[in-house]
Amino acid sequence: MSPDTDSVASAIAYAEYRNKLDGLNAIPARLGKLNKETTFVLDYFKMEEPVLLEDGAGKKFILVDHNEKEQSVKNRDSGEILEIIDHHRVSDLTTPNPIFMRFEPVGCTATIIYKMFAGRGMEISKQTAGLMLSAIVSDTLIFKSPTCTREDKMAAQALSKIAGVDDLQTFAGEMLKAGSDLQGYSAEELLNLDRKKFRVAGIEAYISQIQTLDYDDIMRLKDEFIKEMDLFLEKTKAGLAVLMITDLNKNSSMLLFTGRRSEFASRVFNAKIDADHAYLEGVVSRKAQIIPRLMAFHQGE
Ligand code: MN
Repeated sequence: MSPDTDSVASAIAYAEYRNKLDGLNAIPARLGKLNKETTFVLDYFKMEEPVLLEDGAGKKFILVDHNEKEQSVKNRDSGEILEIIDHHRVSDLTTPNPIFMRFEPVGCTATIIYKMFAGRGMEISKQTAGLMLSAIVSDTLIFKSPTCTREDKMAAQALSKIAGVDDLQTFAGEMLKAGSDLQGYSAEELLNLDRKKFRVAGIEAYISQIQTLDYDDIMRLKDEFIKEMDLFLEKTKAGLAVLMITDLNKNSSMLLFTGRRSEFASRVFNAKIDADHAYLEGVVSRKAQIIPRLMAFHQGE
């Protein structure tokens, strides 16, 4: 598991919210190693990284910024889900007890948490506000992603005041730059940075996303990526591996795919026969522009 800035910020923010609300003793946790963007943000606002949660057996937890079992803590079913706050699709959710859930189709989980604080007139600490602001900027790619809503923008505006971030564009630029610094990573590590597992169209698919400010910087690793993705599929027996390389300047993505079901992906994304990649203008969101397209194509067949 590789948490992004929203996952980490939302864990910290929601723990603060619940602990202030009724004295719950929630501890913010992460499911894996932090990326460079999140590390930058925690340093910037002088916050500590959440504890690493490796096994959910026997534990009680609140899920933030995800709900799919495939993307959750190991042995989740041997623990207990108390609440879920999320902005992703719902796919395989069942619980033994009634639980509190809040799902909204906004650009960022931190936006939902901001609304919960605001709705009760509760104060957000300055540092936590900074993290929440960073999460919104990150998930919405500085408000440019199609997932971004008016509510994300309003939340970001309010949060930047609380956090004392006067020049949001400069801060956002520095943050995304820190996140797109891919120096020192191997192809395998890059694939692991933000890889999510999905079941779409009856196919088990792994979709990784990398953000860059320049395709050329990363596309020279293309052959290595394909090799690593093939090795990964051999290990996991999944049918499809996709790497989505998103260029933040060009506002578009290059998709590389491989696996025994890669011909399905070629058809969905209109790649040439035998091609292992597709260039998608204006596509930057895995959740809003890739997953629904895979699902819709299958249903249309
Ligand atoms: Mn998110």
